[in-house]
Amino acid sequence: MQINSAYIHIPFCEHICYYCDFNKVFLKGQPVEKYVEMLLYEMQLTLNEFPAKQLNTIFIGGGTPTVLNEEQLELLCKGIRKNLPFHQNIEFTFEANPGDLSEEKLKILKEYEVNRLSFGVQSFNDELLKKIGRTHTANEVYQTIEKAQKAGFDNLSIDLIYGLPGQSEADFKQTLQKAFELDLPHYSSYSLIVEPKTVFYNLMKKGKLHLPSEESDANMYNILMDEMDKFGYNQYEISNFSKPGFESRHNLVYWNNKEYYGFGAGAHSYVNRKRRSNIGPIKKYIEKLQSNQLPILEENEITKTEMMEEQMFLGLRKNEGIDIDGFKRKFSVNVLDFFYEPIHDMVQKGWLEVNNGYIRLTREGRFLGNEVFQSFLAI
Ligand code: SF4
Repeated sequence: MQINSAYIHIPFCEHICYYCDFNKVFLKGQPVEKYVEMLLYEMQLTLNEFPAKQLNTIFIGGGTPTVLNEEQLELLCKGIRKNLPFHQNIEFTFEANPGDLSEEKLKILKEYEVNRLSFGVQSFNDELLKKIGRTHTANEVYQTIEKAQKAGFDNLSIDLIYGLPGQSEADFKQTLQKAFELDLPHYSSYSLIVEPKTVFYNLMKKGKLHLPSEESDANMYNILMDEMDKFGYNQYEISNFSKPGFESRHNLVYWNNKEYYGFGAGAHSYVNRKRRSNIGPIKKYIEKLQSNQLPILEENEITKTEMMEEQMFLGLRKNEGIDIDGFKRKFSVNVLDFFYEPIHDMVQKGWLEVNNGYIRLTREGRFLGNEVFQSFLAI
């Protein structure tokens, strides 16, 4: 299978947010240049093994890629440009923290063909931002977006989180209003999930984390979908909304169950029917590459049944759903027969619908995505 996408992980952050369970470390004292050098070497080794013709999407995530200083950023971008083949119409995304992007950094990104920025905004309420361990303010969001637009970036997205400690439905609505005032082409919004090994998890165990009720959380999701619709944004995935033509092409690669490279500490990839994860700790990741080996932690070959299961639970995240004919072309299997029981069961419950050649979540089903997805596992 031809691979057209790459994810690149920059695991450094200047501060640690209380809800975050990503693979990241404090920036201070880290061997950033060595890491970037080894990251580029990982690209070379991987592409020697599995060459790529042209990449349609590259996504630099983290951590916080924009905490790299100008020299490090240039080293990274130049190396990516040199090592990965770009399609002329590539979508090249950088995740960014509001407040991190100087004019100089924006200039570097522009020079190396980055054309999409995704900002971790989370909320426009400064008090809530502090409560979740973010160090930026709503004002910095406005300033950074303005700077990015002035530098010529128009494909911009922001992430928002709802269901934050002490957050009211009215507060979330207000955050959405502020987001719409920016009139961006893309928004993502997720419900807070308290993951193990986070500050929030420890507070929760001590009974010190006061989250909105389940009902209120569901109300916020309803508000999100209604407001997005009202402001002309198409919900194309459970948590993603865009103006036409501004869907995240990179994330669609995941939801369409296509293969992609994954470079960096803790990064995941899907290449040649194998899902791989890389070693997470930075020191070990660097050491492995210094001894001329790929930094693989785990590797699983995906069976046809697993691939079909993945097609279901990834594809159902999209509002468009699963293309019944497309499934048949890909697997030579009729999806309605193969997954008869879970589909029948979920349709009965009112969480799935089958029409016009597609299987998709109903609006009610979007609230219960995980339960629906699980029903397709281990048939
Ligand atoms: S949420 Fe983002 S900025 Fe915050 S600690 Fe996690 S990776 Fe770093």
